[in-house]
Amino acid sequence: MSETRKGMLLVISGPSGTGKGTIIEQLMAADAGLVFSVSATTRAPREGEIDGKHYHFMTVERYNELVAQDAFVEHAQVHGNFYGTLKSEVEQRLARGEDVVLDIDVQGALNVIRSGIQCVSIFILPPSLKILRERLTGRGTETAEAVERRLHNAIWELSQKDHYEYKVINDDLDEAVRCLQCIIAAERHSSAYYSVEVPEE
Ligand code: 5GP
Repeated sequence: MSETRKGMLLVISGPSGTGKGTIIEQLMAADAGLVFSVSATTRAPREGEIDGKHYHFMTVERYNELVAQDAFVEHAQVHGNFYGTLKSEVEQRLARGEDVVLDIDVQGALNVIRSGIQCVSIFILPPSLKILRERLTGRGTETAEAVERRLHNAIWELSQKDHYEYKVINDDLDEAVRCLQCIIAAERHSSAYYSVEVPEE
């Protein structure tokens, strides 16, 4: 039996504070077959964030140069900063048969879905808006004004959930991670990515 696989583009998004970053960290730690696409951003690094690992941090001028060079798969303004998925993080890896994970906002995900690029899209939902507010406040990384802006955006973002192929509620972290692992396992066997030659004997 000879098998070949194409790389899969996994688009994981949802409002900030839904815990998608933690879910993605756990997925990556447990599955050596997944590679994370490091986004470009004009946002300042938070404490502990490493350039090239969490983001490619850059000036607005450099970001605009990359936009002009058509270097992005998608790019968007999120909560007042610019973010973009670099083609250089995605295209060669997919061609090599690697599964690439994008942690991107809802506008960016909708752009990828609408562009017709083959992808698996997963929307992570909070159990409720009340819990989302508690999580955003509890992180302590944002000002009260930023929390309100993120909650306001979350209401529109949640209204976009049905454009995604899959929806996962992050009520229990372990359960949500297991759910994504099941989706990934099933998609790896999809005929869109997986082909098998059956020998005659
Ligand atoms: P944070 O600043 O909290 O790291 O991220 C804010 C939001 O930007 C998150 O929802 C995150 O998923 C999103 N984001 C990160 N990278 C990208 C990207 O390359 N493109 C888009 N559209 N959103 C991104």
